[in-house]
Amino acid sequence: MVTDKELAEYLFPEVKDTLDDLEARFPERELPAGAEVTRFAPSPTGFLHTGSLFTDMIANYVARQSHGVYFFRLEDTDTKRTIPGAAKELIEQLERFGLGHDEGYFVDGDKGNYGPYQQSKRADIYKVGIKHLLSIGRAYPDFCSSEDLEKIRKSQEESKVVPGYYGIYARDRNLDNEERLRKIKDGEKWVIRFKSLSDHDRKMVFHDEIRGDLEIQENDIDVVIYKSDGLPTYHFAHVMDDHFMRTTIVSRGEEWIPSTPTHLELFSAFSWKPPKYAHLPVIMKLDHGNKRKLSKRKDPEAAVAFFLREGYPVAGVKVYLMSIANSNFEEWCIENKKHTLEGFNFSFDKMSLDGALFDMDKLSYFSKETIAEMDIDTFFNEVSAYAADYDPELKGKIDSDPAYFKRILNIERDRPNPRKDYAKYSDIAPATSFFFDEDYARMKEKGLPFDLTLGKEFIASYLNDIAAGMNYDGDETAWWDSVKSISASHGFATVNRDYKANPASYKGNMAIASSFIRVALTGSKDSPSLFEIISIMGRERVMRRLQTALD
Ligand code: GLU
Repeated sequence: MVTDKELAEYLFPEVKDTLDDLEARFPERELPAGAEVTRFAPSPTGFLHTGSLFTDMIANYVARQSHGVYFFRLEDTDTKRTIPGAAKELIEQLERFGLGHDEGYFVDGDKGNYGPYQQSKRADIYKVGIKHLLSIGRAYPDFCSSEDLEKIRKSQEESKVVPGYYGIYARDRNLDNEERLRKIKDGEKWVIRFKSLSDHDRKMVFHDEIRGDLEIQENDIDVVIYKSDGLPTYHFAHVMDDHFMRTTIVSRGEEWIPSTPTHLELFSAFSWKPPKYAHLPVIMKLDHGNKRKLSKRKDPEAAVAFFLREGYPVAGVKVYLMSIANSNFEEWCIENKKHTLEGFNFSFDKMSLDGALFDMDKLSYFSKETIAEMDIDTFFNEVSAYAADYDPELKGKIDSDPAYFKRILNIERDRPNPRKDYAKYSDIAPATSFFFDEDYARMKEKGLPFDLTLGKEFIASYLNDIAAGMNYDGDETAWWDSVKSISASHGFATVNRDYKANPASYKGNMAIASSFIRVALTGSKDSPSLFEIISIMGRERVMRRLQTALD
């Protein structure tokens, strides 16, 4: 008779280590009480999805908040789907969001004592676990070909039973070890399956940090845990890795809830204490009144690269994501009169489950607040970095006169109610282009949007007098007084009440008068503070524009 242990030995003669050896190699972490160990475990199969950024941000935050550890593990066991370069890009993008890691996988080598942090390099470790489960009879080799599995599926369909490899449908579950050995020796291909003792007619309860106690169907599928390529599947790798990396909270997408019973059964087969689980809601989007998942194909905002390319401040995106994550965050912002994550205490039980809706207007709101709260140097550096990456023309302008650009950026910011019209850095180039003579010349060529009701000559002479007589050196009141007195001499009412009472006796009010100045200087009927614009542009440029606007 061939025992389970002998079969295990026959399949994995090269594996000499035991679980105890692994326990000694990866000891419990020494951390203060309450410290959580979290991780982000992406597969390098594509770009960084907004939902993944969300998941990662929470993991990172929970570790930092509890003075614990956050590490990065690369889940690359699905070698067919691995995209070269994807891991590097993921890490770079996370770093851009201030979500870099100290421990884990790095492109130029791991850091930390619990590695390797790349699953494809952990084959030796997984084999120890596989050999153990084989030797205690909780795993077995399965020789089914894909055609065999298809046959099983068809017969289940015909007899209308739950599909899958379980119970009596698990063809090779009850082979005896002699038979197994013979097939192996005959060179039949095999994978290793977990022998589940569950029953899908029973329910089990597990605690989720977000959702509380969840009662769900047991999972009695004998899942594949070890593939013919010598690598484990997600289920097995998750259990081994999070045990030996000493993860305390597994925060991952809610699509893993149905597999959690399998994971818990695996932990129990090893007699290990499972980690806590937090299954994060998938980020949805309202599409013509219907909720649906953010789609890679349809929604540009599904990819994190979109926010970077559009120039949303990363701090604003994070603050926005936190507002999706915790229902009390917005209130906290209002109470604390700031929009930052600093000092906010995240908790899983305040996680909104149905509120995980992606809303561009809300993102804009938080981004505007974030930009408004930034100090000017940070703002300037952020915009410069953005321009360097995505807008060479803007970068050229910034570099040609950084001090000029900084003053432009600072318009209407140094005040109790700073401007809040910039939601993203790509809003800045179009809004500030009039400050640059080449752009202004282009606008002029197309025609400045003057209202010519009062006649070209009248407006030209008014603007000439403004150019020559306006106060350039005083404060805003002195400047405005000078504009008013020149306007009065051209027949404008300086007090709106007078104009309203008797419009026929005036050329217009000060709004109309100053709109000529505005159009002449900025090429537009809307602009931020004229006084600030004039002081930044400087007398010479201002005079030139006022004197030639109607040429
Ligand atoms: N690689 C898995 C995924 O990308 C990780 C899930 C987990 O965090 O355990 O979905």
